[in-house]
Amino acid sequence: MFVITKIIFSMIVKTEKDFIQNYLTDASNYKSENCDAVYFPLSSEEVSEILKECNDKKIPVTVSGAGTGLVGARVPNGGIVVSLEKLNSILHIDKKSKTCRTQAGILLSQIQDACKDVQLLYPPDPTEKNCSIGGTIATNASGARTFKYGPTRNWINYLKVVLANGETIELERGKNFAYNYILKLQTKEGAKFKIILPKIKMPPVKNAAGYFIKENMDAIDLFIGMEGTLGVVTEAELNLIDYPNDLISGMIFFDNFSDTYDFVSKLKGLSLEINSKIKARAIEFFDDQALNFLRQFYPKTPSGKFAVWIEHEIYSENKDELMTLLYELIETHKGSLDSSYFAMNEKEMNEIREFRHAISARINENLVQNNLQKVGTDLAVPNGYFNQLYNYCINLCSEEEIDYVGYGHIGNDHLHFNMLPKDHDEYIRAKKLYLKFCKKAVEFGGTVSAEHGIGKLKKEYFRLMYNSDEILRMYEIKKTLDPNLILGVGNIF
Ligand SMILES: Cc1cc2nc3c(=O)[nH]c(=O)nc-3n(C[C@H](O)[C@H](O)[C@H](O)COP(=O)(O)OP(=O)(O)OC[C@H]3O[C@@H](n4cnc5c(N)ncnc54)[C@H](O)[C@@H]3O)c2cc1C
Repeated sequence: MFVITKIIFSMIVKTEKDFIQNYLTDASNYKSENCDAVYFPLSSEEVSEILKECNDKKIPVTVSGAGTGLVGARVPNGGIVVSLEKLNSILHIDKKSKTCRTQAGILLSQIQDACKDVQLLYPPDPTEKNCSIGGTIATNASGARTFKYGPTRNWINYLKVVLANGETIELERGKNFAYNYILKLQTKEGAKFKIILPKIKMPPVKNAAGYFIKENMDAIDLFIGMEGTLGVVTEAELNLIDYPNDLISGMIFFDNFSDTYDFVSKLKGLSLEINSKIKARAIEFFDDQALNFLRQFYPKTPSGKFAVWIEHEIYSENKDELMTLLYELIETHKGSLDSSYFAMNEKEMNEIREFRHAISARINENLVQNNLQKVGTDLAVPNGYFNQLYNYCINLCSEEEIDYVGYGHIGNDHLHFNMLPKDHDEYIRAKKLYLKFCKKAVEFGGTVSAEHGIGKLKKEYFRLMYNSDEILRMYEIKKTLDPNLILGVGNIF
């Protein structure tokens, strides 16, 4: 057993088996056997102390945020866990510059509430709000509003990161760019790193698979989406925008997938048109199986086979005019005016959000009950390929007679297709289908992970996107920054 003797008396450390148990899984229900201790640093300096000693002794360190991840990435493979839970203060919200400086362990919901109190909004919104801000940075999380605002990456202005050797690097957006695929970094203590970036082509879609690489990339972007493998984020500065004055939030029901898809395509097109008044911020999809699954818990769900949830912000726009335009669009695309509804107040808006969040949350509960791991896709494909991918998935699933639910961030052509195996035999067959779905998405030019990351569960699929040489070159980046390979062991590589 590894014990960090030098600092154990001055830091919160838990070694009790019952306690540690909570850190041996995440929301994917992936589990590991053990780790030696969980550390709860109270400052960036304490994170530094832990890493220095672990690096000297070559003790593996797994970073934990809030454990809502879906790919087993915060689950340790032995060694110790460093939990950021106690680094949970908002340091400053600046109304003038519209920024929020925060420690990494704070929950997203706390950030969102604090920003709202001063009429500001932090746009990234993974539907799970009990995740830590550090976790969202480490996975480049996105979610519903990504259609309008893009993923977490777009909103991170500054990061403080403790590297494997215990030294600290401060990264401010716009200050340090790669040149000719070479990135130079220097820690506050003086250590210098020269990183050779591989010349890889990233898919032209929302993506959280592997490191972000671009010829003249900003250094900060390497650390967004690195899944705890390059360092520990202890502090961040987030960019904010004005809080909207009002919101349109509606559930639109359809009789078939084809009408649903045509409606979405038109809504997306209009939202992206410069002169259009319609600018949806979220466009979310529910298929017939997802709605039936949810009806068990929400029996008042209106009839209708497929549904789209849209959110549209109101700043200075005329709400009545927008509602008229949306109703015309619904009618033209054969949406059901009887079943569709718009929230009348904030309580109803939150109910729609909860309804959307409930699909993934209830599926995860189902997995725990059946003692199975998640077999749910996180596939994004280029604009216009969503329908082909979706039809491919449902056809194969129907042939194999495996239950499923289909939903996702359709605005970004991002499909969460979750199979619901009832026993181990169905689970094995579902895993085989899963591989086929990933192959199809990559064939279309997409990604095997648009927002959850690769973690420990999706490495096999990651290899569909990049060849072994490209992956090896990504791994070289990790080796440059973490030569003893102590951080996030088993994630991505
Ligand atoms: C019901 C449900 C719905 C979800 N919906 C969405 C969604 O719509 N969009 C989306 O993007 N995700 C979604 N997720 C996934 C999850 O919420 C995100 O991946 C989230 O970003 C994970 O944050 P966390 O704090 O829980 O991280 P953890 O699970 O604790 O860790 C995730 C990864 O981040 C690393 N990490 C955590 N903190 C740090 C840090 N400070 N420094 C370095 N590395 C760190 C860990 O090592 C690990 O690799 C959903 C999850 C659930 C359960």
